[in-house]
Amino acid sequence: MNDQQLLRYARHILLDDLGIEGQERFLAAKVLIIGAGGLGSPAALYLATAGIGHITLVDDDIVELSNLQRQILHTTASLGRPKAESGRDMLAAFNPEIEVQARVERLQGEAMAQAVAAADIVLDCCDNFATRHAINRACVRHRKPLVSGAAIRYDGQVSTYDLRRDDAPCYHCLFPESDEAEDINCATTGVLAPLVGIIGATQAAEALKLAAGLGETLAGRLLQLDVRSMRWHSVNVPRDPDCPVCRQR
Ligand SMILES: [Zn+2]
Repeated sequence: MNDQQLLRYARHILLDDLGIEGQERFLAAKVLIIGAGGLGSPAALYLATAGIGHITLVDDDIVELSNLQRQILHTTASLGRPKAESGRDMLAAFNPEIEVQARVERLQGEAMAQAVAAADIVLDCCDNFATRHAINRACVRHRKPLVSGAAIRYDGQVSTYDLRRDDAPCYHCLFPESDEAEDINCATTGVLAPLVGIIGATQAAEALKLAAGLGETLAGRLLQLDVRSMRWHSVNVPRDPDCPVCRQR
């Protein structure tokens, strides 16, 4: 690390259990963030400012006026631009030392598998079940830790699926894919702006802990937040031995 980096990351380096070694792990880490909207915005901002060295930001959407209430990676000047590119430029402004790749696409099939395989840590910040399950399948296949967040109305949830471990549940163990699964998203139901900040920032904290091998992650636990009462619930998540996605791992 050079002098500028020692200064930039000084408040991390001071931390017990993190220090220069932990910061160097951040700088070496490759994080894939799928979704540059409400959750992806705070997650990407904190990972960039924290010094995650390689970030890939994936989103096939364009910035719209109704996004700006909560998607803090984008500004009024970004209207009409692809979110992945607007996000990349914002991250570069916050921290020009890191490498950010923007992918304006919806990852599917082999492209999803390759992107997951190339990452150390994957953040699911998307807003639809089909993509969530595709991300989970790729993370199971390539044994990558997955940090998954969701937020709708006043309710949020977040968990870490540490698929490097044989006993870890996967996303499908908890939320089985079904034909009836209907996407409920912010476009139809609304969402309180800071809720996505709280959940997205929690995803960033989980990713940093995974990158540095620090503390205890949410692996095996689902954290749920009702922002109206501001109460958090922690639910243990067992592995489903009959889960069609992870049982043959
Ligand atoms: Zn499973």
